[in-house]
Amino acid sequence: MSNPAQKTAANTAENTLADIVSHAKEYGFVFPSSEIYDGLAAVYDYGPNGVELKNNLKQLWWKAMTQLNQNVVGIDAAIFMHPLTWKASGHVDGFSDPLIDNLDSKKRYRADVLIEEKAAEYENAGDKPRADALLAEMGRLLTAEDLAGVKQLILDEKILCPISKTANWTDVRQFNLMFSTQVGAVAGDSSQIYLRPETAQGIFVNFLNVQKSARQKVPFGIAQIGKAFRNEIVARQFIFRMREFEQMEMQFFVRPGTEGEWYEHWKATRRRWHEVMGLPAEKLRFHDHDKLAHYAKAAVDIEYEFPFGFKEIEGIHSRSDFDLTQHQTLSRKKQQYFDNDVNPETGKPYGNYVPYVVETSVGADRLFLATLCQAYQEETITEGEQTKTRKFLKLHPAVAPVKAAIFPLVKKDGLPDKANEIYNALRHDFRLVVEEKDSIGTRYTRQDLIGTPFCIAVDHQTLEDDTVTVRHRDSREQTRMPISELRGYIGEAVSLSRIFEQL
Ligand code: ATP
Repeated sequence: MSNPAQKTAANTAENTLADIVSHAKEYGFVFPSSEIYDGLAAVYDYGPNGVELKNNLKQLWWKAMTQLNQNVVGIDAAIFMHPLTWKASGHVDGFSDPLIDNLDSKKRYRADVLIEEKAAEYENAGDKPRADALLAEMGRLLTAEDLAGVKQLILDEKILCPISKTANWTDVRQFNLMFSTQVGAVAGDSSQIYLRPETAQGIFVNFLNVQKSARQKVPFGIAQIGKAFRNEIVARQFIFRMREFEQMEMQFFVRPGTEGEWYEHWKATRRRWHEVMGLPAEKLRFHDHDKLAHYAKAAVDIEYEFPFGFKEIEGIHSRSDFDLTQHQTLSRKKQQYFDNDVNPETGKPYGNYVPYVVETSVGADRLFLATLCQAYQEETITEGEQTKTRKFLKLHPAVAPVKAAIFPLVKKDGLPDKANEIYNALRHDFRLVVEEKDSIGTRYTRQDLIGTPFCIAVDHQTLEDDTVTVRHRDSREQTRMPISELRGYIGEAVSLSRIFEQL
């Protein structure tokens, strides 16, 4: 039976996500794709503020990888790859989710998600052992590919379709998540190619090209940001689960036997990165995988507490030499590295080997959603006699779409010209806007809603002494300062080195 207190908590969470979704649309962060045609399920477009925020997040990841580590270099591989790539990686045969349909509602579900939701119900009701036992049983059945057993588990647990409220289920079957298309003009099996379901394989097949051209020695990493495509069965929760999304992945190639320490290194480094970027420690947690892929030595998710619960934003996986060995077999091209460092045990070089890989993989869109959820604030403020709710985005200045907005107090007396003069002096350094329209209060509100950290008011005193008032988004406090100090002041707040020195 559902617990009323829990229901309220769930409703509040949904309301918060609904608020964020509508905020994202209204203020130009995220739009449903092809909205004039009623949208396309699980596909979204980023608007003018969204693209700035997303680019800033991607830049911070990219620089944290390739600028802070001499032994991490980037690539930008094509989305289309030779079809054998996906045979080698196991995606053709194994990249599928267990699917189940309800015959009454005609709705399709992921069988594992239905069971996970049941386990979450047990856990929320305080019965963690039962939740854990259920998840372990599901893991066992999926590993054994016992799909009939998975269906039986759904029936035994009396899991009902949320729409029809019946247990009239089809059998469970596997559904491959890769999108395929034809290359060239001639149709047929040989021309079938896939839209990549992960960016990692573009890195694996370029391992030797990069190692040689960038003169890297193991251990070293290759970073990439790019689109990936998955025909997700159930796409929900806004940009959390999309059919076209963006990944930021880094494959770190190590000497076999050292993968354990590198796994711990990247696990800690990546979690710290999220904290420094503004996701609070108490809203992040590690979640070890219950079920490991057959090639994996260890795998952990970094989860963030979204309004709909703790969910994965990044995966850190110790992948052994599986991918490179598979590519070596199918391509018949050696994927070996000659390590001339001396092994202290033998006194001889380590010699030839296929490196092991530790990967970090974060979704740019999930990171964007976590950032937006974290930044979204509603506070009650008192202005004179009036009490009102103020909404604002408490974004780190370094990722905010606009760094400062410049407001001439009135549209006359030369103030707009002065505002534009300041804009022209600073636009090479920062993304700024000049706004003349509406009352200053309305203009502050507009900038709060998109997370602009500073608003610069140009008034009559400015014409006399070249000073302006800088209003701070979070505290709403105002500071008077000379125009000549603005560059240093904003620069300090948006400085990447201030972020990176905390890593
Ligand atoms: P999930 O279990 O949520 O489906 P996953 O374990 O399949 O995710 P990975 O294959 O490890 O995900 O992909 C790495 C990262 O890519 C994830 O941590 C996530 O941030 C992102 N990602 C994966 N699938 C999607 C998707 N459909 N939409 C948006 N981001 C995604």
